[in-house]
Amino acid sequence: MDGLMQPRPLTIAHILERAERLFAHKDVVTASAERLTYAEVAGHVRCLATALDSLGVPAGARVGTFAGNSRRHLELYLGVPATKRVLHSINIRLSAEHLEYIVTHAEDDVVFVDRGLLPRIWPSADRLPCVRHWVVLPDGTDTAIPADPRILDYDELISTAAPFEGSFEGAFSLADENLASGLCYTSGTTGPPKGVLYSHRSTVLHCLGTLAAGLIGLCESDVVLPIVPMFHANAWGLPYGAMMAGASLVLPGASADPAHLLGLMEAERVTVAGAVPTVWTGLAPLVRDHDLSATRFLLGGGSAVPSALSETYRAAIGVPITHSWGMTEISPVGTIGGTRTQHRDASAAEQLGVRAAQGQPLPLVNVRIVDVETGEELPRDGNAVGELQVAGPWVAGGYFRVDADGSFTADGWLRTGDLATLDAEGYLRLVDRMKDLIKSGGEWISSVELEAAIASHPDVVEVAVIARPDPRWMERPVAYVALREGGAATAEELLAHITPMVAKWWLPDEFVFRATLPKTGTGKLSKIALRDAARIA
Ligand code: ADP
Repeated sequence: MDGLMQPRPLTIAHILERAERLFAHKDVVTASAERLTYAEVAGHVRCLATALDSLGVPAGARVGTFAGNSRRHLELYLGVPATKRVLHSINIRLSAEHLEYIVTHAEDDVVFVDRGLLPRIWPSADRLPCVRHWVVLPDGTDTAIPADPRILDYDELISTAAPFEGSFEGAFSLADENLASGLCYTSGTTGPPKGVLYSHRSTVLHCLGTLAAGLIGLCESDVVLPIVPMFHANAWGLPYGAMMAGASLVLPGASADPAHLLGLMEAERVTVAGAVPTVWTGLAPLVRDHDLSATRFLLGGGSAVPSALSETYRAAIGVPITHSWGMTEISPVGTIGGTRTQHRDASAAEQLGVRAAQGQPLPLVNVRIVDVETGEELPRDGNAVGELQVAGPWVAGGYFRVDADGSFTADGWLRTGDLATLDAEGYLRLVDRMKDLIKSGGEWISSVELEAAIASHPDVVEVAVIARPDPRWMERPVAYVALREGGAATAEELLAHITPMVAKWWLPDEFVFRATLPKTGTGKLSKIALRDAARIA
């Protein structure tokens, strides 16, 4: 027997119209200190809707964005899916080759690009015949705009379009909740980039999952700063989450300059901010110079957050970095860390250990670990290490325009390529990415654990451990390290520091000191670049 509840669709159009109705006065602040209300943002979205119609962008077409975190980008986040088009947010740090591959593969019909970023993408325009229009958002540094009939101006487009007066949500049927709403490509570290195609339903459920109290738990009184770029897996859902909750948003542009970000946090009294660990590392030395007394929650993910880094923030402002694990394929939040009531009486060291874990799965997300060779499920005992697999309503079930792909199991779970343990309380601890694990003399060494140990030395700012081929042991660990300004730690000192923390045979064969380490397009440390540089790929 079926239930008798109303079969209403879950849509991003609802997020938009809810904010327009309930939180019209709440504001969105941008890098240029421009302040607009949600009512004004929604007004622009209504004009964008008719502008897209007059540009002839059909339903289902991909609309590319090549932009920093801005109010105009937010309008596209809302207006593109609310009108049944698909928002394809493009990583602004891609090589021309990857950029052209992705835009062509997605068949973007129109691309919206920050004025300041135009020089990065315009040289590719002639190799991207699918893109009929390039719409310039007047954000970022002032650059000369080429005189070309394909180029349009966003503000002009909006100001000359008549606003759509109807209900966006009303145009969705129940079946429409499964329509594609967004498209993000994975970084392509192990082959060509692959597109993850989110639906309205998956986006709304992910949003609700992260909104729940005790998780990220955004609420109306929050002021949310997504430092994580809006092209990096939907800025981890923070923009949609903030609007659903009625929280204010602070959108810092395309700059990751620490003084700029901390200045915004202080001036806007930001309560919640999210960024990858390399960004938190950059901000750490300056945190004490700012009044961050409004901050209640810092979110870190994308790669492991070293305990030492999280503790720096806890000591400085009383707020640790809450660990979250996720993937573009998981919309992206899969787990959320932090202590629970059962840890209240635990020792400080035990609590630190819990905070270092990647955390418990969000509601509706199922995780399991399996033996890499046999595929058999392993016990949740905190010891067994296996490949992490995930299933849930906001987990990808396939990739855009890719046929059979080994990323999914026969029973439909996503194979993450991560190695992890799960304990009896459901806490996930990531051991390593399968491809980053170091095999020495037949035994595995976790680069993540070694990095955490090295990062706990006060002089170390960045560290990445990679495998070097070794005739005797097959592979041996080599640590690449960047020291803080004025830091003087030597290889011997670092070795002495980590010796009590790891097994003897884990100790790196060499420490290579660099001023700074290479980063990926999403700001994580790039082991591929290090391997290439060391010619040991
Ligand atoms: P990319 O391949 O560009 O890094 P994603 O941003 O989707 O693409 O990265 C997902 C991967 O990042 C995960 O599979 C995992 O290896 C790593 N990761 C994400 N969050 C964490 C975390 N909190 N701790 C450790 N690793 C993480």
